Amino acid sequence: MKDFVNAAPWWRTDIFTEIVTSGDGVGDFLKLLHERASSPFFIVDGILEPQTPFRGIFEQNDKFVFDASESEPRTGDVDRVVSLIKSMSYAPDAIAGVGGGAAMDLAKAVSICLSNPLPSEKYQGYGLDMARGADIWVLPTLSGTGAEVTPIAVLRGPERKLGINNKFVAPVVAVIDPALSAGAKKFNRFFSMMDCFFHHYEITKSKTSAEYAVLDAHDGARMAREVLSCDMAEFDIDRAAKSAAASVLGGSSSIGGRVGVSHAISYGLSNSSPRLPHSVAVTISMLACRDIYSDGGWDDTVKFLEINGMSRPTAREYGINGSHVERMTKTAMGMEKLWLSHFGENWRDTVDESFVTDIYKRIISA
Ligand SMILES: [Zn+2]
Repeated sequence: MKDFVNAAPWWRTDIFTEIVTSGDGVGDFLKLLHERASSPFFIVDGILEPQTPFRGIFEQNDKFVFDASESEPRTGDVDRVVSLIKSMSYAPDAIAGVGGGAAMDLAKAVSICLSNPLPSEKYQGYGLDMARGADIWVLPTLSGTGAEVTPIAVLRGPERKLGINNKFVAPVVAVIDPALSAGAKKFNRFFSMMDCFFHHYEITKSKTSAEYAVLDAHDGARMAREVLSCDMAEFDIDRAAKSAAASVLGGSSSIGGRVGVSHAISYGLSNSSPRLPHSVAVTISMLACRDIYSDGGWDDTVKFLEINGMSRPTAREYGINGSHVERMTKTAMGMEKLWLSHFGENWRDTVDESFVTDIYKRIISA
């Protein structure tokens, strides 16, 4: 843990975010934030409220406590918080997100939407011209795929699950204290690290990712493997530090890197089941890609589940059945950049409707 706090930058990609490693995350976060911002507004995951280390956060005056038990924030959540803030007597100069990916993504989206006139669903997408919002600060309480550093705010809209992809949603400062994930359930710690592994592993297989991103992904995959190869039932601070480091790499590698097949397939599943967490959707997808990821990805996935005493998740448990296959296939076929990432320029030689439909048929019969 001491090594983590004093670690030199362990990522190769230029990230937008100042990373502050800390052994007193809440204390350092509040101290730095109040030094640099005069009127911060907090967006906090409600699950943290009974946890003693977060008392200082809940004592802050201006905050929105968010129920992050759904897999990602909805565009309606963003619009609600934006109008709440606009009804206050002052404009905050910083939006502080405290929690897992959902709380951080909500903070990111609220910040930029405060400075732009339309409802948030109009900003889901890439390359849209948007004004900069208040500074975004984040204090992650779960390690995953680097929401603490990425210029993406993932949102579930009425139409689709799609992020606001814009450099102005990258946090300005992330304070990272691995001990803050001690109160998270094993299920959440395990599956968010699985998603971290899939991100890194898929980027190492990518044909369209930048070299520096692939190097970060190799490091991140190794760290995630080391964590997932242990039974994670008990919280362990050294494993948590490794998870936090792998998560930052998940963010840095995704800036120049691109994931592949399991993620493409997962988007169809997510669109068919709002309560299916993203990390579980990707796990279900990977389990159906044994032939595509035969060089370790599939075997490792099965091994990590076994070591951790987790049964293989199924789409059926989340209400997905044969009636969803057509729509899921359409969603996944639209993920052209991800197919290109895995199969290269001639991806259409391999990937067509029947190829994708077969994968979904395997998934719903599992
Ligand atoms: Zn993912």
